[in-house]
Amino acid sequence: MLSTIAFDADDTLWHNETLFSVTQAQFREILQRYVGDADIDARLYETEVRNLRLFGYGIKGFTLSMIETAIDVSGQQIAAHDIRRLIDFGKAMLEHPVELLDGVEAVIAALKGRFRLMVITKGDLFDQESKIARSGLADHFDAVEIVAEKDEATYRQIFERHALAADTVLMVGNSVRSDILPVTALGVRAVHIPYHVTWAHEQAGGDRPLPPGAHRLERIADLPALVDKLVSGAS
Ligand SMILES: [Mg+2]
Repeated sequence: MLSTIAFDADDTLWHNETLFSVTQAQFREILQRYVGDADIDARLYETEVRNLRLFGYGIKGFTLSMIETAIDVSGQQIAAHDIRRLIDFGKAMLEHPVELLDGVEAVIAALKGRFRLMVITKGDLFDQESKIARSGLADHFDAVEIVAEKDEATYRQIFERHALAADTVLMVGNSVRSDILPVTALGVRAVHIPYHVTWAHEQAGGDRPLPPGAHRLERIADLPALVDKLVSGAS
């Protein structure tokens, strides 16, 4: 019997990856003045992935990786005023208003009271807490979990800590790699709602067919109808 609905946050409840894409385009523009047509995106991605184990996910790590990439790609020629701009990009991202995806408020309102609602998100604790507070949704959630990595072990710990049996939970998220595969591996049902931009790192496994126990929706507005079907045993 379904009793808990857990939501990923970034690109599931609110826009996130578009902010990174826009900033990365500005970063590219700055670097192109130093190196012309070098593959700046690939170099930044390499740096980000290499730094994940030290910085974790989030804007601060992304900002440091932009600076490191700029120093390396420019052959240490990047000017201090351009490094300053990269730092300002990061600050602007951290202060950017939280923009909910279409339909999120109505969906949360429809499910609240019927189900225990949770957020399970990864990334920088300070930034994620700030976004949840600024989203205006904080009061609707019974629990918020901010974790370093969304893998099977982490989800198992969360479900154990909240005493949630696998068949009582539905996880909703935009990343097959982080929100779907690790939970279905634990026997938990999941709903994949793709966002129009996916960070390369999250794309791993994204083109695979969904595992048993997973559903796919085009938009979060369709979630309450799917939940009703699941509750009535029709799906
Ligand atoms: Mg997400």
